[in-house]
Amino acid sequence: MNAPAARPLELVDLTKQFDDGTLAVQHINLTIPTGSYCCLLGPSGCGKTTTLRMVAGHETATSGDILLDGHNITNLPAASRGTAMMFQSFALFPHLSALDNVAFSLKVRGVERSERAREGMALLDKVGMAHLAQRKPAELSGGQQQRVALARALMMRPKVLLLDEPLSALDPFLRSQMRAELRHWQQTLGLTFIHVTHSQEEAMALADLMVLMNNGVIVQQGPPSEMFNRPVNAFAANFLGGHNLFCDDAGRQFAVRTDLTQLLTQDGATGAGVAVTHPVEVAAVEYQGPYVLVGLTTRSPGHCLRPDEQLKVMVSEEAFTRHQFVVGESALLGWTAEQEHALSD
Ligand code: ADP
Ligand code: MG
Repeated sequence: MNAPAARPLELVDLTKQFDDGTLAVQHINLTIPTGSYCCLLGPSGCGKTTTLRMVAGHETATSGDILLDGHNITNLPAASRGTAMMFQSFALFPHLSALDNVAFSLKVRGVERSERAREGMALLDKVGMAHLAQRKPAELSGGQQQRVALARALMMRPKVLLLDEPLSALDPFLRSQMRAELRHWQQTLGLTFIHVTHSQEEAMALADLMVLMNNGVIVQQGPPSEMFNRPVNAFAANFLGGHNLFCDDAGRQFAVRTDLTQLLTQDGATGAGVAVTHPVEVAAVEYQGPYVLVGLTTRSPGHCLRPDEQLKVMVSEEAFTRHQFVVGESALLGWTAEQEHALSD
């Protein structure tokens, strides 16, 4: 294994315009610290894959630079950049053993058999898979297949591992299991991971650095908790979830977290410190275990950024037993002035 990069991966004013004129990535600037888990997050078509492919060298940049460990790799061939890609659903060769999958790139390069086996086994050993080296992918669990795919990517001696929606084809149980494994291996190996996903839940669970994109630009970047607590605008607040959005009489937009928003009976007293209330009608009640998720329609649409969307409140199970809200009931939504988080346009 080569030493991890000493200096970060930097994208400098990076732009991709396809031949048909599509501006897929527009002047993005991003510094990904060495050894961090970076998630590129955003809706379909926002430019995540194009960004990753430019880093991998599978797509040329129209302008801007990609720097890795102090070297400008913008125009280097994919194989000599210090990056490696892990593909969706692991993309292992079904007819090859785990060892032959891992050593495949050596075979292509004409490395002789005993040397291939030695290097392949060393990497399988690194991911705890040496004892299953002769198994074919179909004889391995999903988690074991992922480790073989990881070992195969490590054969490139990468400083940065690139993953494009690696978990999106998996069922939800396997997905959260594989997610934890990815994080474990990233930390164990001390490598920089760049993981593309459209799932905010996945990005929040994994990332040290979360990068939210929309329409080819970076909307916001930072640690997940900072992003969740301080979304910059309505797009970020909506995409990250967990917020209700409002605007006041002056047109100022703000968000209030759904877990902090209080739901009050129409005639009841307001809760402690609740300074702001908003008339609503209960539209849906969903029991979620530790809390009840109550969906609301607003009675004053002018004060909602998205009048067509339901507001949401997480009512604790205990509070819900004190007053069971029912669909059609009029109620008040309340929050304190400090809970309002201002959004820019
Ligand atoms: P994401 O991975 O975030 O879903 P992509 O990076 O794949 O988005 O695509 C970003 C934009 O670039 C989209 O509008 C997409 O249609 C466009 N695009 C991607 N690849 C090509 C291509 N080869 N030629 C033209 N447009 C493309
Ligand atoms: Mg994509």
